[in-house]
Amino acid sequence: RFPEPVARPGRSRLLVLAGPTAVGKGTVAAQIRAEHPDIMLSVSATTRAPRPGEVEGEHYFFVDDAEFDRLIDAGELLEHATVHNKYRYGTPRGPVDAALAEGRTVLLEIDLQGARQVRAAEPSAALVFLLPPSWDELVHRLVGRGTEGDEERARRLKTARVELAAQNEFDFRVVNEDVASAAAEVAALAH
Ligand code: 5GP
Repeated sequence: RFPEPVARPGRSRLLVLAGPTAVGKGTVAAQIRAEHPDIMLSVSATTRAPRPGEVEGEHYFFVDDAEFDRLIDAGELLEHATVHNKYRYGTPRGPVDAALAEGRTVLLEIDLQGARQVRAAEPSAALVFLLPPSWDELVHRLVGRGTEGDEERARRLKTARVELAAQNEFDFRVVNEDVASAAAEVAALAH
């Protein structure tokens, strides 16, 4: 099992939620949004295609490579990264700045590379790392959701090992044993 989460004191209105594949970041973020409609969940731009049921502007802004390059060149992304060596993802800066200016807390659900860039750009951001209760449980969740084949699963688990090794770079670590408790712990870090 992983060590108990360690929390440093301090709160911030820009919250970054990262963590390995299948740990439940999306579920925890959705739970936080349901309970705290005042918290703005940032919608990322991505070059990957929409999955069935995903809505433009709600789950992602789906863009092509040329448009993604344009966003980077225009300085419109707060951070961006190629995730799982495949597609590009980035956080549009405008909506984040606007929400912060209104005094709202903003939650970014992004990968480790993005979290590091936000740390550099906004040192006051609070970085939260979502942990599985154990490595075996993480593998169990990934296999259980059944959305990846063997090869993709192996790739994601390799990335997960790298991400878990970086957990000490984060300000807070929250174990996602139970979604409601994890969401409450993360939301408690918001003003
Ligand atoms: P998915 O394709 O499954 O929706 O997301 C794959 C990965 O991309 C997840 O680990 C997610 O956290 C990450 N991701 C989503 N949006 C962003 C973003 O705007 N920036 C970065 N750096 N990563 C993102």
